[in-house]
Amino acid sequence: MPETATAPAWAIPGYLEAREGRLFIDGADSAALARDFETPLFVFSERRVRSNVERLKAAARGVNHPVRFFYASKANSTMGLLSVIRDAGIDCEVNSGGELFKALRAGFRPDQIIFNGTSKTGREIDEAVGAGIYSINADSVYEIELIEARARALGKRARVALRLVPEIGTRSHLGLQTALMTSKFGITSSEVLDAFRRALRSPEHLHVTGIHIHVGSQTPDVEPFAAAFKTMWEHLKTIHGESGHALEHINLGGGIPVNYLRDRSQADELPEGEREMLGAELEPTEVLAAALQAARDSARDASAEHLLEGVTILLEPGRSVIADAGVLLTTVRNIKRRPETGDVWLLTDAGFNLLLSMTTYKWYYHVVSATRADAAADEPYKVAGPLCDSGDVYFDIERGGRLPDYRKLPPGVRPGELLALLNTGAYTIAQMFPYNGRPLPAVVLVREGGRPELIRRRDTYEDLLASEVW
Ligand SMILES: *Cc1c(COP(=O)(O)O)cnc(C)c1O
Repeated sequence: MPETATAPAWAIPGYLEAREGRLFIDGADSAALARDFETPLFVFSERRVRSNVERLKAAARGVNHPVRFFYASKANSTMGLLSVIRDAGIDCEVNSGGELFKALRAGFRPDQIIFNGTSKTGREIDEAVGAGIYSINADSVYEIELIEARARALGKRARVALRLVPEIGTRSHLGLQTALMTSKFGITSSEVLDAFRRALRSPEHLHVTGIHIHVGSQTPDVEPFAAAFKTMWEHLKTIHGESGHALEHINLGGGIPVNYLRDRSQADELPEGEREMLGAELEPTEVLAAALQAARDSARDASAEHLLEGVTILLEPGRSVIADAGVLLTTVRNIKRRPETGDVWLLTDAGFNLLLSMTTYKWYYHVVSATRADAAADEPYKVAGPLCDSGDVYFDIERGGRLPDYRKLPPGVRPGELLALLNTGAYTIAQMFPYNGRPLPAVVLVREGGRPELIRRRDTYEDLLASEVW
């Protein structure tokens, strides 16, 4: 619970607060930020990013086993944030040549980088092998051979791990589950041992270092992580028994959830499954402890214990590092009351081109008034973005009931009022696009001590033309 009885449920002391009636982000007044930088505007808290990283590191210290964290940069690869994350002391996971380029530019050393992906090009593999990164995670037997061929051509030895797809379901969105046989990712259990044998046949060009499963994003329970770890651990033992080759790491992927429902005032309007998934509280310590326990339960003999001691556990957290460190500020630009329904519509300047998950996965982002942050929010409004597209609404246009039909805000919201969409740091900026000729927004990072710093300027109209040849 918040420290004072009057603090709103969404507040996080020291980071997200209602002061003088306004939303303050790490000591910076959201109204002043909106005035100085215009809206829509993404605002991040450096302190919150660092505390999220610290929570991961504390979990690693807690299990007393070697653990490394590779931040999944697809969640948000804004350079200013990548450098905060690097400085906070964790490593980086990339999914494309572009993300590899950005990670290296942000100052991650090659030995701090993992490259995942289903469709790597020869050029991307060359870049990864050439840089000498920590691990290229091969997604198929074909790709093992491709990596070997490129490494041979470059006269190098690539560090590779194999990505496995076991049949492990989670209670997250189907689009976010990646360990099902129907998922496009990875090598199946029946093929994986042959795949390892294949990779181990080319020791001069492939250094086989690990095994990987990513069960999916926003995974609310510990069991899928434990099951994934157990599967990988058993394969690791088999490979060791067969060839004497000891893998260096087991990579449990990402998926540590974020609680998007700290304010539960509209939680009852979500279907039960969504509510449990979006409101998940799962500590990284629990994930690591359950994984180690699963391995220990499956083999208690001394040689297995010894083998386990030599294995570094990797995690690839994305969302849990960055989602709740970001807020999207948006201004109400238009209002209408429909006589037939009695609905009051608020039209904002933040559409699904900035919040793609709100439309693809009907993701719930809690909305508050930033200028009346401590007022009772009990008035229902239809809320929608600015795009010329009926799907650009803050409710479930397909009537699936996966988002509340109305958003609750203080009475009497008028055009000009500043709203804030909370927990919008992950999978937003990384996916935004200039639909409708809308220049992409600025991003501000509030430094420790409350000083706002522009880390991405707002696009101009000229930027809309920058890549066009005409
Ligand atoms: C997306 C992804 C992640 C990050 O998932 P989060 O839910 O953001 O933690 C990690 N690893 C892989 C392979 C991914 O595809």
